Amino acid sequence: LADRLQNTIQKIKGKGKVTEQDVKEMTREVRLALLEADVNFKVVKDFVKKVKERAVGQEVMDSLTPGQQVIKVVKEELTALMGGDQSKIAVSDRPPTVIMMVGLQGAGKTTTTGKLANLLRKKHNRKPLLVAADIYRPAAINQLETLGKQLSMPVFSMGTEVNPVDIAKKGVEQAKENHDEYVIIDTAGRLHVDTDLMDELAQIKDAVKPDEIFLVVDSMTGQDAVNVAENFNDQLDISGVILTKLDGDTRGGAALSIKAVTDKPIKFAGTGEKLDEIEAFHPERMASRILGMGDVLSLIEKAQENVDEKKAKELEQKMRSASFTFDDFLDQMGQVRNMGPLDDLIGMMPGANKMKGMKNLEIDEKQINHVEAIIQSMTAKERQDPSLMNASRKKRIAKGAGRPVSEVNRLLKQFEEMKKMMKQMTNMQQGKKGKKGKG
Ligand code: GDP
Ligand code: MG
Repeated sequence: LADRLQNTIQKIKGKGKVTEQDVKEMTREVRLALLEADVNFKVVKDFVKKVKERAVGQEVMDSLTPGQQVIKVVKEELTALMGGDQSKIAVSDRPPTVIMMVGLQGAGKTTTTGKLANLLRKKHNRKPLLVAADIYRPAAINQLETLGKQLSMPVFSMGTEVNPVDIAKKGVEQAKENHDEYVIIDTAGRLHVDTDLMDELAQIKDAVKPDEIFLVVDSMTGQDAVNVAENFNDQLDISGVILTKLDGDTRGGAALSIKAVTDKPIKFAGTGEKLDEIEAFHPERMASRILGMGDVLSLIEKAQENVDEKKAKELEQKMRSASFTFDDFLDQMGQVRNMGPLDDLIGMMPGANKMKGMKNLEIDEKQINHVEAIIQSMTAKERQDPSLMNASRKKRIAKGAGRPVSEVNRLLKQFEEMKKMMKQMTNMQQGKKGKKGKG
């Protein structure tokens, strides 16, 4: 996003004391950045007010690291603005569970219908039926049928001569007969919100009583997305939003505003045209992306969520002092497992994706067991002081772990790089503290 916001964040991060002036400067940059990202101005106004209140409040001023605390407030509020992690899909106690897809033309309804079906089968082992209720675009039915073929999933259609309300009804009946667990109804869209479309969708809703109504929104549409979302929600009381085309050159403002305006969760994000390019929407990550703040702070935050606080503090200390040993490494490994994909964690480290040696640091989750085995085959001394390592020790360790020596070597190298990086981070932080030290 805005480089200026980045600079402000960098500046404020290391501050040992935050003045109201600092907060003002920060919120001003945040405001500009959000407006620039196409966030609705009313949403921005409320947001800035909230952040200001919290940032000059006790919680920040009393903390030992007010600079970091302010940023944390910004991020928390941004995350809250977009809702929590809510990628769950309803399950009806009387199957089939009915999902209705709505949205403007070209938003990605049909594609997302396929993606959701794929997800339901792959992740949840559910059997969905796809229903083609867009009778207006001649190719719409074909498009869904093609997706159905790709997925080897049944598609229910009745051509273009039957009323979409009847198609939806019959589709659900068919699913019941087939004992399908889910029905996803792909509906028609228009270029703009219009009453005919809304009436039709409302009738379908009445007829099939969907368990979920997902509004599909193209994240590239910017400000307009807010109006669209508001409209659909007023008329249909949607249950969630799916943002598509987040892989594109979007500024993400839509995501921020939609939740605020409709108070409905953004559940999934489409990240490409392919059928597996859909993911749970993570407000946290989106906030980080918007603020561009991959940093130690969020790494530690995440650690705190999943690890007990004391351990996280110790880890932080160790990372900062770079006195990190293989014992610590091993100790953390188990906890790291609970934190989610390692790539995410590594992505949070400052400038991680820009760092050259970083590729080697990407630890495949499948390899974790091997890494553990290797470390467990080291002696206590070796774990504390990897410089002891020589050829015969490496060979012994490799044998003990049942892994090739090359893997032992690689781990040692990764470990050294990791330590180097921690040292760099520590230096960077201290450098900043040094600079702003004005008596
Ligand atoms: P519908 O009119 O709402 O049914 O929209 P479609 O599903 O037909 O999608 C319109 C276009 O957007 C198609 O070319 C899709 O391939 C494309 N599309 C849908 N979702 C995504 C996405 O998440 N990323 C990208 N890059 N393209 C998408
Ligand atoms: Mg369509």
